[in-house]
Amino acid sequence: MNVHCLPAGPIPTNAYLLTEPALGQAILVDAPLGIWAKAGPLLKRDGCTLAGLWLTHGHWDHTQGAAEVVRQAGVPVSAHRADQALYETPELMRPLLGPGIVVEAVKVDHWLADGSKVAALGETVEVGHVPGHCAGSLRFYFPRAQAVFSGDALFRGSVGRTDLPGGDRGLLERSIRTRIYTLPDATTVYPGHGGPTTVGEEKENNPYVRG
Ligand SMILES: [Zn+2]
Ligand SMILES: [Zn+2]
Repeated sequence: MNVHCLPAGPIPTNAYLLTEPALGQAILVDAPLGIWAKAGPLLKRDGCTLAGLWLTHGHWDHTQGAAEVVRQAGVPVSAHRADQALYETPELMRPLLGPGIVVEAVKVDHWLADGSKVAALGETVEVGHVPGHCAGSLRFYFPRAQAVFSGDALFRGSVGRTDLPGGDRGLLERSIRTRIYTLPDATTVYPGHGGPTTVGEEKENNPYVRG
């Protein structure tokens, strides 16, 4: 599996285009503004067709490009139901948006839950619910590729902010301990912002949530 980290949008936010050229299949994790212009050419280069868009949570910086991806690729969207209102009525986030930032609503086709298993890219992806930064935060764990996509729950040397609506510091800590720190230490963590890290590295050195 190739992991293409594609930062995009005004913040910027990491989208991850996961391609498996042997199968001609790809998955996109998160969709900041303008992501299709970056993902489209890579799909062609790797000879892959996009099979789905998976959203880690409903914050606008991860969803602003989602409607365009659906229009261009016609793929189903998967996410957690706790963020349904944010996906369908992004105007709810208006107080958090800078001037001139517009967010299109996105229709979610598949609601994933804690413990959901999804067949993709030749393996079985394990979905975990990691609320605390956002009520509908998910992490996607690929056991064979030894990779987890953590959204804004866990960053390299940091954790997601918990002062936004739906945020809860204690809950986030519990989510990280029970749904991310329980993965093998060698697992690469691909966060929603900033560079990658590993589970072992964060358990040892993350100043916010110790292993
Ligand atoms: Zn967020
Ligand atoms: Zn974010």
